[in-house]
Amino acid sequence: MTNDGWVEIREDLRKRVGKDNYITWIEPLKLSELRDGVASFSVPTTFFGDWVKRNFSDQILHHLHRSGAEVDRIEFALDRISAPKPAKAAEPAPRKRASNEDEVPGAPLDARFTFDSFVVGKPNELAHAAARRVAEGGPVTFNPLFLYGGVGLGKTHLMHAIAHELQTRQPDLRVLYLSAEQFMYRFVQALRERQVMDFKELFRSVDVLMVDDVQFIAGKDSTQEEFFHTFNALVDQNKQIVISADRAPGEIKGLEERIKSRLQCGLVVDLHPTDYELRLGILQQKAEFYHTQYRDLVIAPGVLEFLAHRISTNVRVLEGALTRLFAFASLVGREITLDLTQDCLADILRASDRKVTIEEIQRKVAEHYNIRLSDMIGPKRVRTIARPRQIAMYLAKQLTSRSLPDIGRRFGGRDHTTIMHGVRKIEELMTADSQLADDLQMLKRLLQG
Ligand code: ADP
Ligand code: MG
Repeated sequence: MTNDGWVEIREDLRKRVGKDNYITWIEPLKLSELRDGVASFSVPTTFFGDWVKRNFSDQILHHLHRSGAEVDRIEFALDRISAPKPAKAAEPAPRKRASNEDEVPGAPLDARFTFDSFVVGKPNELAHAAARRVAEGGPVTFNPLFLYGGVGLGKTHLMHAIAHELQTRQPDLRVLYLSAEQFMYRFVQALRERQVMDFKELFRSVDVLMVDDVQFIAGKDSTQEEFFHTFNALVDQNKQIVISADRAPGEIKGLEERIKSRLQCGLVVDLHPTDYELRLGILQQKAEFYHTQYRDLVIAPGVLEFLAHRISTNVRVLEGALTRLFAFASLVGREITLDLTQDCLADILRASDRKVTIEEIQRKVAEHYNIRLSDMIGPKRVRTIARPRQIAMYLAKQLTSRSLPDIGRRFGGRDHTTIMHGVRKIEELMTADSQLADDLQMLKRLLQG
């Protein structure tokens, strides 16, 4: 395999590791050699290599295997740009791996996704409790367990945790975890290779079946059909099934009614969007983990709180932010302060800002200063109205990405220089007037939710 081959494979990794990790850690890797079962990658720094090795080598190996490459080990070596390139030896053609790997045909489990590493809070406590119950492996009380919720809220984590736990308690249990996409892929392959009976047998012989992201099979008729039969066969045998999706069974469009109603027969629990406490808990846990790796890194008070407050999208983004922050701080050898955080994560912070509109700003400011909304855009120049109007201009500049002329238009067609003047005026007053500074803080908080 050449570096070009690798470039194709690594695209698949993007989905597994997430975009931020991908850009930071995977994209810079160059495959320099693949020989005798060892894939050698060149990396820019030793730290970089260590990091990738610790965090991503399993996934990289997995994807190399999947592409048919014969690899047992990966190595990282410093990229010696100045050294002359050694003449490339002819590479062995990639051979397909012996296919005795399909004894357990599931997707690999992420070793980090355990119950121990799952932080429980109000938004996920029910889902967590239900997952724990299933993981005990006692008599099946609800079938299926259906977990649903938005992206990055921990569905896959919980499913892997169940699988790990079951495997530890009962090593003989046949637990099969895979995504609905992989289910479909395997089914289509079985059809093509005329091995549908084998496929059926395999899926009917497991003790626990876990299918992640089941919304994927919506609208895919023959896969749905097969899924339905597999599902019924396992339920009839009293085998536990765990399903996840990004929404409730009834809300998955293109899913057959009979499947929807079967999915609703068990226990349906949702993972709610994270709240501040849960996010902070997750950040604290991850930060502790990083501390064991970078003992000399200091994180200033308030940084985790700041992140928990500002990044409210999903846990994956939160984790990506922290990973980048620690990696960056360790590269530059500095304490993780709020300033460093804001610099290092500017793009993430911007993207997760709730979009505030100028209209909202005008409304909130008018409310706060007890003036009419129409006065925001009207011509009155008395101080009691002009000042709040300038405050709204200032906030519009700060909290939205609108240009000055654009803001001007939304303030009754004022000129951009008027807006600029208003913004400057407030900046000036703010430094001397602590009441005004407090007001601005509070308004910002209100507007940013
Ligand atoms: P989903 O499958 O719902 O899209 P994942 O299970 O893949 O989300 O979670 C995304 C990332 O966030 C994973 O790295 C996971 O470990 C982490 N995560 C989500 N929820 C929690 C939690 N409650 N505690 C610890 N980590 C979490
Ligand atoms: Mg998932």
